[in-house]
Amino acid sequence: MTRKPIMAGNWKMNMDHLEAIQLVQGLAMELSDRNFDFSTEVVVIPPFTDLRSVQTTVDGDNLKIKYGAQDVSLFESGAYTGEVSAQMLKKLGCSYVVVGHSERREYHNESDELVGQKAQVVAANGMVPIICCGEVLEIRKEGNHVSHVVGQVKAALQGFTSDQVKELVIAYEPVWAIGTGEVATPADAEEVCKAIRELVAALYDQDVADAIRILYGGSVNSKNVKELMAQPDVDGGLVGGASLKADEFAKIADYQN
Ligand code: PEP
Repeated sequence: MTRKPIMAGNWKMNMDHLEAIQLVQGLAMELSDRNFDFSTEVVVIPPFTDLRSVQTTVDGDNLKIKYGAQDVSLFESGAYTGEVSAQMLKKLGCSYVVVGHSERREYHNESDELVGQKAQVVAANGMVPIICCGEVLEIRKEGNHVSHVVGQVKAALQGFTSDQVKELVIAYEPVWAIGTGEVATPADAEEVCKAIRELVAALYDQDVADAIRILYGGSVNSKNVKELMAQPDVDGGLVGGASLKADEFAKIADYQN
């Protein structure tokens, strides 16, 4: 089974809508200069306020870059001040929505249950959830990282059918590696990504496990990406800081060359 690799750039709360246009155009130019063939999917995940600008840039220039959102509301519409619905994101052409990023879990108290519900809403609206999971340093030090992450993923998959799970993306992001420059070793990344795939095989079947894409995130850059991607169960990267520079993110996406 060959899974199409993905490199997704999580811009977090960076880039206004004008900078977003420049970054997407710059990325497209860098990829074109490298004769990039898009055999790896390239996704940008800007703040909500940039999505319309990214959409018009992608559509106007006929770019193969995909885009998505960093979060979503559980609700369809109505009196939910400050929230953005899945339908709104779908209408803006989003392909992906990140759910359960560790910063949302930490600063907004998002639980495994809520993350699972958000993932359901995303899938029900025809987009692909990128479901984030990962342990804090304390849990890793205790040696409980695999069971912790497997528990998070199990909770998030509640209610998904086999056909739906095949389309999902899981991002394993050890919290101690996010934005710290301290990347997990390729073996660390593989240990947990493999355990996630084994969980999916146990909950569904091997076909589903072979289809689901599992990303690693945490201080990925153009220097470490190749080794991470050489791991059999790592299908891509969720990239924060390094996705804010067009040339660096293009190099990451083009890790095979
Ligand atoms: C992230 O934002 O999900 C992330 C992995 O950030 P960074 O690459 O900067 O560690």
